[in-house]
Amino acid sequence: MGAGNGATMRITGYKSHGVAAAVALVNAVTTRDGDDSEDGLREVLRANGFFWQQFEPRDAEPFRRWGRTLRPFFEATELDEAVALLNELMMEVPMHPHLADHEPHGLHIHYAPPSARLPHRFRATTLMNLSELVVEHGLSRTGVCAAPGCDRVYADTSRAGRRRFCSDACANRTNVAAFRARRRASRDADAAAEAEARSGAARPSSENAGH
Ligand SMILES: [Zn+2]
Ligand SMILES: [Zn+2]
Repeated sequence: MGAGNGATMRITGYKSHGVAAAVALVNAVTTRDGDDSEDGLREVLRANGFFWQQFEPRDAEPFRRWGRTLRPFFEATELDEAVALLNELMMEVPMHPHLADHEPHGLHIHYAPPSARLPHRFRATTLMNLSELVVEHGLSRTGVCAAPGCDRVYADTSRAGRRRFCSDACANRTNVAAFRARRRASRDADAAAEAEARSGAARPSSENAGH
């Protein structure tokens, strides 16, 4: 996740780094190329403004479990389904909202109790930020990458909100493939039209017959 994404994170007036963090965790834990090692998990936390320094080896399994738990949210195609999942999870994750002021976010809301450890805080923040995204945009901003063969998820927090791919690489790969397919199809169509024109010339059509 590049630094450029950070600048576009604040779409709705509150801090939604939990959305990007949820995406990064789901991709680390549930995809073919994901890195769910302890270092991989630390990187998810570091890249998304969580206190990665507080990560302990015993946290790895709770984080992996949470990544698997959140994946169905990104796969959901019905809003009801996604809402039910988030509601169920919010019942399971004790919340105790309070204000916190620390880098890199400045003043923002923590949703877990002040005493909660890192995995609990991560669960609370990702849940609340995903819920806020759904309230604002339904399921139009989240999904599984549209590139053939890619199983990564994405969340689009840009203003335009037209993203369907996990990355520029997948978008480019798919667009190039689509362009080639179109070009092939139009070449085939040209060839067919040419062949038809040739056979039409050889064999006078009924329309030509009168001339
Ligand atoms: Zn914080
Ligand atoms: Zn992709």
